[in-house]
Amino acid sequence: MIKKASRLALVICLFLVILSPGLVQAQSKLTVLDYSALVEFPAKLNFSLSAESDVNITDIRLHYVVDRVSFAEVTSEVYIEFTPVTTVEAKWAWDMRRTGGLPPGSSVEYWWTVEDASGDRIETAPVRVHFDDNRYSWHSLTEGKVTIYWYEGDRSFAQELMAMAQQALDRLNRDTGAYLDKPARLYIYANAQDLQGAMIFPQEWTGGAAFTRYGIIAIGIAPDSLSWGERAIAHELTHLVIHQMTLNAYGDLPIWLDEGIAMYTEGMLGPAYATFLYKAITEESLISVQSLSSPFSAYAEQSLLSYAQSYSLVEFLISNYGQAKMLELLNTFKQGSSYDAALEKVYGFDMDGLDALWRDYVTRQYQPAEEK
Ligand SMILES: [Zn+2]
Repeated sequence: MIKKASRLALVICLFLVILSPGLVQAQSKLTVLDYSALVEFPAKLNFSLSAESDVNITDIRLHYVVDRVSFAEVTSEVYIEFTPVTTVEAKWAWDMRRTGGLPPGSSVEYWWTVEDASGDRIETAPVRVHFDDNRYSWHSLTEGKVTIYWYEGDRSFAQELMAMAQQALDRLNRDTGAYLDKPARLYIYANAQDLQGAMIFPQEWTGGAAFTRYGIIAIGIAPDSLSWGERAIAHELTHLVIHQMTLNAYGDLPIWLDEGIAMYTEGMLGPAYATFLYKAITEESLISVQSLSSPFSAYAEQSLLSYAQSYSLVEFLISNYGQAKMLELLNTFKQGSSYDAALEKVYGFDMDGLDALWRDYVTRQYQPAEEK
């Protein structure tokens, strides 16, 4: 019933907006003349409003909500500083360089409240602004819950990427039982430079990123680097699915599990990673499962080894204990379990136990054939 009433109220609001676009009138002469939001991707979102009244306008606030998965709806409020006047042009720029950015395709709902000295108050109807990367002309292709956006290369390029995405989802489901629940949007930039241009704090190595709470992935894939793209799509899409599946208010996944499943969905461990893993086994310099549960080292060699070990840990769990156990582990993490308790519940060993069993497994796996 409450839902019905609010829906009716929304319909009435929309009706009013249609009747008088951009113009909302209170009892006095307080009037919002116009308001808009201009996207300056990726750095800024520029909001502006003009209002007038027969008395001084004294209070202007911008309210906005970013569309992403969260556990409590967070409305941000911005107080506009100005000297009280009867006619006002208010502007406020959300400078992403100071707050961190939003991914391409994300959206923000905003509205204004304006008050004048007579106590009249106007709240404008909420408007959704799409923070699109309007520097490129995007095409789109949808299949199931996946939509691919791209601007370079023909339709067959996008179709190939789509086939890769669907195959990755099938593999992920076969190995872990995880599946894409909510829509995923993949923004395919033409190369790594274009992708970095879409990010506020680009990092040297950024070839792709999953913005899991937004259901958005951004990857730089040139039409002639499809084999790299196939792995990148599988990797980032896996992060999206795993985060959708396990997101909870209480805790995160151990990094080795998150990265390990993403690596495992890519396919066989690449030769560079395998070399590092083999080297660490022979030199007895493997990183502990405990350490791999926290963010990885920024040093290239340690980072490569961390990814390689994560792959191997997940490979160990899936090949020895199967898909159903992995799904149970993910579902246990969704309840907000600690790392040790989740492993203990599903597999009967904690992180140290996993560490010992896995070391034994991987050491035997990488032994030269004649010593086996
Ligand atoms: Zn990753």
